[in-house]
Amino acid sequence: MKSRIKLDLTELMRIPGLSGHEDRVRRAIATKLSAAGVESRSDRLGNLIASFPGTGPSVMLFAHMDQLGFVVRKIDEDGGIRVERLGGVPERALASQSVTLATAKGDIPGVIANKSHHATTPDEKYTVFKAPELRIDTGHKSKTEAERAGIRIGTPVTYHGAAYDLAGDRIAGTAIDDRAACAVLIEVARALASRRHGPPVHLVFSVQEEFNLRGAVVAAQTLQPDIAIQFDLMLATDTPDMADRGDMALGGGPGMSLYSFHGRGTLNGVIPHPAMVRLVEETAAQEGIDLQRSAQTGILTDLSYVQLVGEGVASIDLGFPMRYSHSSLEVCDLGDLEALTQILIAALARIGPDFDLSRD
Ligand SMILES: [Zn+2]
Repeated sequence: MKSRIKLDLTELMRIPGLSGHEDRVRRAIATKLSAAGVESRSDRLGNLIASFPGTGPSVMLFAHMDQLGFVVRKIDEDGGIRVERLGGVPERALASQSVTLATAKGDIPGVIANKSHHATTPDEKYTVFKAPELRIDTGHKSKTEAERAGIRIGTPVTYHGAAYDLAGDRIAGTAIDDRAACAVLIEVARALASRRHGPPVHLVFSVQEEFNLRGAVVAAQTLQPDIAIQFDLMLATDTPDMADRGDMALGGGPGMSLYSFHGRGTLNGVIPHPAMVRLVEETAAQEGIDLQRSAQTGILTDLSYVQLVGEGVASIDLGFPMRYSHSSLEVCDLGDLEALTQILIAALARIGPDFDLSRD
């Protein structure tokens, strides 16, 4: 299982899929599902949905396909590219990164310019530039040349897709947030394809999470699930700079969020349904899987909005520990992804027709 997850993950990590431009990722996932004998369909916004019939409360499992990045704002006369940020771009970690501009004429490589160190003043050494001040160098010598190559205002820009093996089961690379969860869901689809009974399950590979967190809501409105389980990163806190923030170790097993909140303009978060917390805890105990716990402000996923659909959806965020979120090289551990897959398959099997979601 682990090697299959690795293969899916590293393939998906290399495909550019800025929010609103997820088409290539969606096609790759649909192809993998189809190879597993699973049919899928897309809605108008671009969510990819695969449904498995069953009895009992219906479950929507989802992970987002999109990644953060930039959009071309202007091309300077000398061919330098100016961009707007899309999503939580970490400006501190942008200088001299390689990027991909996905144009109708094909992918164009570029470099985020960084002033030559030899000419950097002492002040500038410790200055972080905001995304709108950055320039991307694609090698084109003029605006006309860049445009002729296919670069236009609105062209999506993402980190250059990469995946590296680190020691042990660790993987470094682009958009592990949230392609790792997409790889987990693909593996779950393979298991569901051959199951005999269980609740109705809808797998949703959602769009625009990094943009406005609301792509998955559209799928939830269509599917009207009773239960929603969202898969995304959990902040690993086992590095010195994160030690005070929690108790989440990379390689320590999948995580469950007990509280998330983001108050900066968004004012939302998820406090999971008690029945879902119980289900995940009991499943982990039964399967002998270490389960880690997370409670964080500053975190927000699209589940915040999905939980509010219809009469309310019994919700929980599950995930995999990850380091260096939103930088060009994030790090996860394949063991966590495998355990997350196992816990999920086992939890679904425990949701029978009498699964109680009442608040009495
Ligand atoms: Zn994410």
